[in-house]
Amino acid sequence: MSEVSKSLREDRALTPVELDALFCASASLRRHIHANPEPGFEESKTQTLLRDLLVKLVGIPDAAIRTCAGTGLVADIVGTGKTEIGNVGTPRVIALRSDMDALRMTEGNAALPYRSSNEGVAHLCGHDGHMASLILAAALLNRRAHVLPSDCVVRLLFQPAEEGPGGAKPMIDEKCMDSVDEVYGWHNWPTFPLGQMHVKAGALMAHPTAFEIVIDGKGGHGSQPHATVDPVLTAAHVVVALQSVVSRNINYKDQAVVTCTMIHGGEVTNVIPDRVTIKGTTRDLDADVFELIKTRMDAIVQGTCAAYGAKGSLKFDIYGAPGYPCVENHKEQADVVIGLGQKYLKGRVTEEGLPMMGAEDFSYFLHEKPGCFFFLGGSEKNLTGWSQLGAAGQRSNCGCHNTAFDFNDNLLPIAGILFVRIVESRMGLQLYSEEDLPIPLPSEEDRCEGEGGDRAPLPEAGQAAPPPTGPIVINKGAKRGRA
Ligand SMILES: [Zn+2]
Ligand SMILES: [Zn+2]
Repeated sequence: MSEVSKSLREDRALTPVELDALFCASASLRRHIHANPEPGFEESKTQTLLRDLLVKLVGIPDAAIRTCAGTGLVADIVGTGKTEIGNVGTPRVIALRSDMDALRMTEGNAALPYRSSNEGVAHLCGHDGHMASLILAAALLNRRAHVLPSDCVVRLLFQPAEEGPGGAKPMIDEKCMDSVDEVYGWHNWPTFPLGQMHVKAGALMAHPTAFEIVIDGKGGHGSQPHATVDPVLTAAHVVVALQSVVSRNINYKDQAVVTCTMIHGGEVTNVIPDRVTIKGTTRDLDADVFELIKTRMDAIVQGTCAAYGAKGSLKFDIYGAPGYPCVENHKEQADVVIGLGQKYLKGRVTEEGLPMMGAEDFSYFLHEKPGCFFFLGGSEKNLTGWSQLGAAGQRSNCGCHNTAFDFNDNLLPIAGILFVRIVESRMGLQLYSEEDLPIPLPSEEDRCEGEGGDRAPLPEAGQAAPPPTGPIVINKGAKRGRA
């Protein structure tokens, strides 16, 4: 790392070897974080590590870094340049965000040399990669701080608890967005092709809810159903009837989901219980659609329960807080990101798969200031370079939140450099020429169309892959910067 930070301090173009060393440092960081995951609002070791790197590797003075929302961090890269660049109205403060938390899940990647060492907690959504890409971007940006005008700031937001209960809002309450003009963030998506950007203006991700339906009947002997009010039978009809909300009430032009995920009731086979509870989630992209979902669900619960002589109640926000708002990209900023994708990702930009019905608390930042959130695909047909891990030289290509998920390190330079290009484009300046900072894209034959591969086969006991040795090669066979 000291070699890397030494070359970062010098004001000259980084050689390809130095750039590789920087990319490798970000991959090592990603794997270190992967091995040491912490769940939401417990990211204290991660916070300490990031702060240390921001000072020692990136070169940001400690005074420009502050703790936010407990385990989060806000760090400012302040321009020291003299020349006034950009027109009036050009954003002067741009925030770049990464989430920090791991999931409370047990990792299934027995073959990974850097698998989770924190039992029951694992980076299975790729937030380890988001952090490493933001550190990489910070390193590239800060070494050109003298080119940034002195009234310009790039603010790094390391946000805790994205998976819940949400760290964006507490960070905003602690003023992380004060004086920010625009905000950008990204999420890896393992089933989209590596290096392909998925983004659009407007609704990108959904507003989720958690609901509970309680059905009270009258229990009794399983052999005497006529003497009971059966909440099990009633619940079955409620679950079926709820399927009509999306199929018969929501306009086909809108998107929505109503899913029952839990039914609890009864203890033994010969007793009809008094009560059954149903829980589940709804998703929408529009407040009016959500109102309609609530109204229809309530009518179905009340009406169906009444028809069977039972009593029903429906409650939303059962975890005490409303679900994250819908992620809605601002048009001007989304168009800029799309344009940068066209230019630097060689046209690999699409709206396919969007909007997604998953949720993100990045939405709160977008309520404060204009900005854009985008996805970068991580799936490869021929797993190459940094992807070659696991039992049979294979790394899993499976989806986020799968126990065998692992972030694709080939995404680090792509995402890190895109952040740099966003700052340049919005502030109207050039920090690096395309030649000095090429984005290593996969070759055409490595691109994976469609849904991506399945999880890598699990290794036999005692066959865990050895840690990677020697220099890590990105996309073997593909020339850096060439598609
Ligand atoms: Zn997640
Ligand atoms: Zn995530």
